[in-house]
Amino acid sequence: MNQDHLYTSLEPVGNLPNIFLVADGMGGHRGGGYASSCAVETILEEARVCGDKDAAHILTRAIRKANEVIAHRAGEDERFAGMGTTVVAACLDEDVLIAANVGDSRLYVIHEDGIEQVTEDHSLVQEMVKFGGINKEEARFHPNKNIITRAVGLEQELQVDCFIRKLRPGDRVLLCSDGLTDMLEDEQIRQIIDQKKDVRSAAQALVEAANDSGGRDNIAVIVIDPFI
Ligand code: CA
Repeated sequence: MNQDHLYTSLEPVGNLPNIFLVADGMGGHRGGGYASSCAVETILEEARVCGDKDAAHILTRAIRKANEVIAHRAGEDERFAGMGTTVVAACLDEDVLIAANVGDSRLYVIHEDGIEQVTEDHSLVQEMVKFGGINKEEARFHPNKNIITRAVGLEQELQVDCFIRKLRPGDRVLLCSDGLTDMLEDEQIRQIIDQKKDVRSAAQALVEAANDSGGRDNIAVIVIDPFI
């Protein structure tokens, strides 16, 4: 059962010049798959009609709308109770990247000299990393690594984190679900993307490497080369 959904548009969506989305759902009885696909659809619908000009505002509003729609649906049907989803959303305005996230799906920027995790996970282990106790490597293997502390569809007042980065020539952008990052270290991800000339083969190589390392979960990957 695939609980990950992704979407890309290089064409404008409402006032957004383009959009990239990854959502990783959770919840039994098909709830997880429903929540992540509903999040993608709702974000696109909201972005299309939103009159705001600011990309970070549009993404935030759209993700909050998805939170409302999923929570409402979960309240109507007890089989869907407790369903939710992560969301990582991004758009590129020329060389400026605007990103928003909830949960533990991630956005990275791969520079010529390193890899930067731009989003911060909303997870129990991330809080343990932040407030002491364990390091990032221990977090990857922690038994509670899949417990997230913030999810779309489960919040009264959803807080969405936003990030803005000016990109440099040669930078690439990666959006992914934890099916990738549970299996591969950041440095492995950087090397794989570095070795591939085009984004499509980079994305395929990432999925293959995650599957070769155990592939215990659905793997959603979007690789963007903003300067092509
Ligand atoms: Ca997952």
